[in-house]
Amino acid sequence: MDNWLEYFKQQTSQLLQQLETLVRYESPTNDKAAVDVLGAYLHTQLEAMGAKITLYPRDVVGDIRLAKWGDDTAAPILILCHIDTVWPVGTINTMPIKITEHQFFGPGALDMKAGIVITLAAIQALQEYNALSRPIWLLLTTDEEVSSHYSRAIIEELAQKAALVLVMEPAGEYEALKTMRKGHARYTIRTEGLAAHAGIAPESGINAIVESAHQILYLNNLNDLPKGISVSVTQIQAGVASNVIPPLSELVADVRFASMEHFNEIDRAIHDIIPTVLGAKISIEGGLLRPPMERDQRILNAFKQAKSIAEQMGMNIGETFTGGISDGNLTAPFAPTLDGLGPEGAGQHAAHEHVLIRSIPRRAALLTAILQNWQDATP
Ligand SMILES: [Zn+2]
Repeated sequence: MDNWLEYFKQQTSQLLQQLETLVRYESPTNDKAAVDVLGAYLHTQLEAMGAKITLYPRDVVGDIRLAKWGDDTAAPILILCHIDTVWPVGTINTMPIKITEHQFFGPGALDMKAGIVITLAAIQALQEYNALSRPIWLLLTTDEEVSSHYSRAIIEELAQKAALVLVMEPAGEYEALKTMRKGHARYTIRTEGLAAHAGIAPESGINAIVESAHQILYLNNLNDLPKGISVSVTQIQAGVASNVIPPLSELVADVRFASMEHFNEIDRAIHDIIPTVLGAKISIEGGLLRPPMERDQRILNAFKQAKSIAEQMGMNIGETFTGGISDGNLTAPFAPTLDGLGPEGAGQHAAHEHVLIRSIPRRAALLTAILQNWQDATP
């Protein structure tokens, strides 16, 4: 096959049909039973495609599946899809599937059921043309939308064995690939003061809110948006009554950064906080949640190769970055990772969530060509 783009364009209506099927299997992360129904459906499909499937049962979230094609003679390309969505069961009634000339609307269509459709179509096409040239692993996780707590260890272990990781999250604007994602950290800073009557003996109290106010301004000063560092105080809880000097205060700071070097700087600065209000005591909890997907030389090289594969099909793809996190943040420390291989669309996690229909065959063609032609970087 020398024209995957044409091949998949002709399959557009089947691809949309499959997308409709997957969207109708509503699969919110916190509804294990619903997610497992979709998992079972996909299991049957993968079996029919000749995959060797490993099941990772999970108690709280849906079961995780790893499907493998090919032998162990080369390092695999690992494809990551999550089958959970943010939409509760029943959303399909209030936010029904709607197909217009250019768009496919529906809960979870963009994030990321279309990515699953594309992945299955690509592997099927390669099989049909006997063009599976290396091992392909597909991991279907079930908890990406709640930070991948139950899949993280599997994701990290598989990434260590992979030559390349492809994440089927939605594309950026103009079908750009995502080559950088910020990392994420969170801190809770608890301040202990001393209660006192605000009228009778204010001087004998230690005001925890005033202490937190100093911390908030200090934290706010750590922002360095041009460097990609954001430090946002997002929550605060304090005070017991309008006439009591507040004995306790607790704030939460959300931190995003583009490199581990930046994270280490901020982490040190946060742990350097000392109380300004005499007698106040502070304790700091939290830290790194996800490392950044750093746009390092490995990722840059992978992007260049993907771009040149796209160019051979007459497609021009760019790259973009985002402050949002994905499972690509977890794999990037271990293997070159390209994210945003899914189709273009808009309204992720929003009522107007939709996929651009023309992007579906284009992304299927790109994924197929990458899987077929990928050359590992020589060490
Ligand atoms: Zn997603």
